[in-house]
Amino acid sequence: MSSAVQPFSVSGQTALVTGARTGIGRAAALALADAGADLILWGRTLQGLTELAEEIRRRGRTATAVAADLADTEAVRALAAHLAAAHRIDLLVNNAGTIRRADAVDTSWSDWRHVLNVDLDAAFVLARTFGERMLERGAGRIVNVASVLSFQGGIRVPAYAAAKHALAGLTKALANEWASGGVNVNAVAPGYVATDNTDALRADPDRSRAILDRIPAGRWARPEDIAGAIVFLCSPAADYVHGHVLAVDGGWLAR
Ligand code: NAP
Repeated sequence: MSSAVQPFSVSGQTALVTGARTGIGRAAALALADAGADLILWGRTLQGLTELAEEIRRRGRTATAVAADLADTEAVRALAAHLAAAHRIDLLVNNAGTIRRADAVDTSWSDWRHVLNVDLDAAFVLARTFGERMLERGAGRIVNVASVLSFQGGIRVPAYAAAKHALAGLTKALANEWASGGVNVNAVAPGYVATDNTDALRADPDRSRAILDRIPAGRWARPEDIAGAIVFLCSPAADYVHGHVLAVDGGWLAR
């Protein structure tokens, strides 16, 4: 990092954020815009994304909304190829994710495949498509949104835990290949964040209390808590950070 570079600025960069409509993705898109990036917002549908794009434009950055179901690998490939041809994507945030809660013996094959498709396969397809262009330019950042369940088995979420463990492994594998080409691949591992993803947990008083009791910080995370770490990993301040899975969990894993 040269001394003239603003260490936490992503000014002049274009960031693609998946799952940008809600939760962590929305907070990350806004935080990246505030740090200077132009945004491409990827949703399952365009619903809700147009308003976010307007909010980003009000903050002085450009924003484009696109949509494809991340469970549909062919649709993901097609939209990614279109975006790669039309834009220089400097920063890729593989944030979108889904979860299915059931005991392993009650987990259907279709639920298993759906979670693996969205949480793992789509992240690989996007990393490969945009990573190849980043390597050609000798610069780029990829941040995968993993989970504390990249380290733990969790309760009644076998497909999700498997996908998030694999996403951490993919993060390290890509970093090993791409660090020398100027592309940083890292992940954030959120703890328990108050978003749609955890509605069911927060609606269950026993689970909700048990989770809160175990968090050293004494509160659930806000999406903005995770967004700051994503901006950091996209910024020049993280130039020498490769293959790291950064827990942002209020101390959960340290317990
Ligand atoms: P969220 O508000 O439910 O956001 C998930 C996003 O992913 C939504 O925008 C959703 O879009 C998108 N998405 C889901 N399935 C999709 C599909 N098939 N195609 C395209 N987009 C799809 O929950 P969140 O907590 O912010 O989750 C963001 C990431 O953080 C996920 O990877 C999640 O696993 C991870 N995470 C969350 C927590 C937590 O405690 N909340 C903890 C650890 C990790 P639609 O709404 O349009 O479906």
